[in-house]
Amino acid sequence: MTERPFREALIDLDAVTANVRTLAERLGTPAMAVVKADAYGHGAVPVARAALAGGAAWLGTADLGEAFELRAAGIDAPILAWLHDPGADFGPAIDAGIDLGLSAEAQLHRAADAARTAGRPAAVHLKIDTGLRRNGVQPDEWAGAVAAAAQLERAGLVRIRGIFSHLANTSAEADAAQLAAFERALAVAAEAGLRPELRHIASTAGALTRPEARYDLVRLGIACYGIPPFADGTTSAELGLVPVMTLRGRVAAVRRIAAGDGVSYGHTWRAERPTKLALVPLGYADGIPRQASGRGEVLLAGARRPVVGRIAMDQFLVDVGDDAVEVGDEVVLFGDPATGAPSADDWGVAADTIGYEIVTRIGPRVPRGYLGGA
Ligand SMILES: *Cc1c(COP(=O)(O)O)cnc(C)c1O
Repeated sequence: MTERPFREALIDLDAVTANVRTLAERLGTPAMAVVKADAYGHGAVPVARAALAGGAAWLGTADLGEAFELRAAGIDAPILAWLHDPGADFGPAIDAGIDLGLSAEAQLHRAADAARTAGRPAAVHLKIDTGLRRNGVQPDEWAGAVAAAAQLERAGLVRIRGIFSHLANTSAEADAAQLAAFERALAVAAEAGLRPELRHIASTAGALTRPEARYDLVRLGIACYGIPPFADGTTSAELGLVPVMTLRGRVAAVRRIAAGDGVSYGHTWRAERPTKLALVPLGYADGIPRQASGRGEVLLAGARRPVVGRIAMDQFLVDVGDDAVEVGDEVVLFGDPATGAPSADDWGVAADTIGYEIVTRIGPRVPRGYLGGA
């Protein structure tokens, strides 16, 4: 039973460790494993431990709540969190030794206020917007922000440990322009007297393709999970990475249908010949994109089988022809292509999205099972 669950996202923790080790060695730069969004749907705490075992020097989260979850599990590695509720109280983060990625001078003053109460300085990585235009201090406010930071640092209320930014991955030229803007921001910060030990701008794509973007730390998310960051068909294997998540289930029903029979809601697909259908017990409630109706594929009984008709909330159908397929057979929606399974990126293509979204959106009804790990 446990070997063939009804629905399961099986997480190979040894693959996380191996991916981080491979990347850290290849890039020659300390790595932050980004475990935001429950480690892209893989489970934050076990993935964080596996990434640290592979040599990750830092952990990264978006929200503070995600960082607290790691601390509550006893993980004491350096953590940076960078996306904050406008009303967030930074005191508990300072107490928990969580570094704050800050994007505005007002946030610096709030961190300083919290530090006064906490009785120790807030460890800050100050973010400059070099062109992604999500958050980060805007270039025309940067001189003022670094002056304020330097003053708060002299007062012992903040420690500017890092300066960082984020690339838009638009083109080589646009990345180069962002790196030039980052250099200017670093120079302005140095003039203001800041001496950050960690300058960082690259996530997976930039770290893999632009050595000059690696600086003192690379923030690796998707590569830790064994999924390529590029939308150009590059495979995991070509990058030396192993996909971490295998999404699988068991065939819940099998039926024969006649030529001309319509299938699933709206009968958007009709059989051209007599055939056999297998029912897969995962649907859009589990994160299987309805957009991939009639386009996705699964691995079942040794072959790739096409999704036919609409993907419903809990289930969808695949056409298995005349092949021997039984109720209870294992069906793999995606996993390591080396096993013959589709990749998360294949589902991304089928749903007009990216592998990142496919793994991250797997819903709570799908239990996570874990392989390996310490
Ligand atoms: C999500 C995120 C990353 C990781 O990006 P990948 O493309 O998954 O490597 C890095 N830095 C920041 C600021 C992020 O939000």
